[in-house]
Amino acid sequence: MRRRDFLALAGGLTGYSVVVKVDGLAAAPPSTREALAEAFQRIAPPRALERRLAAEPHLTLVDLDCDVLVAGGGMAGVCAAVAAARNGARVVLLQDRSRLGGNASSEVKMHIVGADCHGARPGWREGGLIEEFRLDDAVNNPQRSFEFWDLLLYDKVLSEPNITLLLDTVLYAAETENGLIRRVPARCDKTEHLYRVTARLFLDCTGDSRLALEAGAETRWGREPKSEFNESLAPALGDRQTLGSSILFTARDYGRPMPFRPPKWARPVTKEMLKFRSVGSWEYGYWWIEWGGQLDTIRDNERIRFELLAIVLGVWDYIKNSGDLPSSATWAMDWIGALPGKRENRRVIGDYLLTQHDLEGRNGEPVDAVAIGGWPFDDHPPAVSTSGRSRRSAPSACPRFIASPCAASTAATSATS
Ligand SMILES: Cc1cc2nc3c(=O)[nH]c(=O)nc-3n(C[C@H](O)[C@H](O)[C@H](O)COP(=O)(O)OP(=O)(O)OC[C@H]3O[C@@H](n4cnc5c(N)ncnc54)[C@H](O)[C@@H]3O)c2cc1C
Repeated sequence: MRRRDFLALAGGLTGYSVVVKVDGLAAAPPSTREALAEAFQRIAPPRALERRLAAEPHLTLVDLDCDVLVAGGGMAGVCAAVAAARNGARVVLLQDRSRLGGNASSEVKMHIVGADCHGARPGWREGGLIEEFRLDDAVNNPQRSFEFWDLLLYDKVLSEPNITLLLDTVLYAAETENGLIRRVPARCDKTEHLYRVTARLFLDCTGDSRLALEAGAETRWGREPKSEFNESLAPALGDRQTLGSSILFTARDYGRPMPFRPPKWARPVTKEMLKFRSVGSWEYGYWWIEWGGQLDTIRDNERIRFELLAIVLGVWDYIKNSGDLPSSATWAMDWIGALPGKRENRRVIGDYLLTQHDLEGRNGEPVDAVAIGGWPFDDHPPAVSTSGRSRRSAPSACPRFIASPCAASTAATSATS
């Protein structure tokens, strides 16, 4: 299948939402339990290869072959895998967590939002498979449980007989030949298996561009200097700064006093620090608690996790114990993330490098466009903002490719930086 056709089918493939028009996406035939039993035999064969890798003598070696290898089971990877499978490709989907969905799973709880831009464009939908999943979720998960959303994605993938799903399995290398990826190894320590997967097409949906890194693809990190692409909004000097990561939480009203005692390492947060941000609604955490864009959002993930937890708990301590918000007395957190939701890190250089000029429509309409962006191009300056407002990117002027901006503010506040 041509790459463009594939992208169009998958819809919402990368990053912020895209809107695509897709005709004739037939619902997958339900998998039978027999077919599933066969699939499990494939990934944990009773008679595994006798050969073991010397370096991993205790891991059972399993060779798999497919048409399309998808690394990473976030929304990009799930859509890619299902789209490929429905077009007749045999797919192996590798996901290093027990759940599918990535940032949009219950582990991070970043719901999918974009096309309608928080109501600024009523009626706009993400389209493609994202639309199919979300409609099914609306019908089957009216309780809006994130765990059931994960389950829906699991069901969607399992329902495709062409997909072999490997959960808790991490891709950690790539074997290349003449500049092409031939085979990737991946390990599942939970089941003590080592997989070697050959494929004709390899898709990097890891969010961290891990496959690209292992394959030696060209990558970039951070912000280019203004001079490189003549972008007026770029900094004078390039650097390695990126958008930061976030940890969200959920809370509810228990109808009785719910005390909160923060851990000793929670950051002290004051009213002054929050003067640019509203903390008056407590059901769902704050995306603007964003940290780590000045560090390496892959390598420093442990530090970033700690600091984000310290900030979130500090903000909650302010809400609960400062006395400024007395009606929070009966509220308590019922979930807090442990996995920082990453927004940006390594970027693979593809066929085309998008610049400010494209977003402003100065390069004309892309001839090979497959999707319409529904969200403004977010610009989250990673440093402390003294004004409380971000140095925002200019509004996009390209109506069909990246739609006009809406009122999302994007600053990191002094409390979070
Ligand atoms: C707080 C926050 C707010 C956001 N707000 C919005 C918004 O309003 N609108 C919007 O459109 N977008 C928003 N985003 C961005 C959006 O969440 C992401 O762009 C999107 O989830 C990316 O999807 P993905 O599938 O590419 O990557 P991910 O969701 O990161 O999924 C990648 C998956 O691959 C797995 N993986 C990584 N390495 C390997 C490996 N080596 N082997 C196997 N698996 C691997 C990871 O565990 C992960 O599950 C936000 C993000 C955050 C954190």
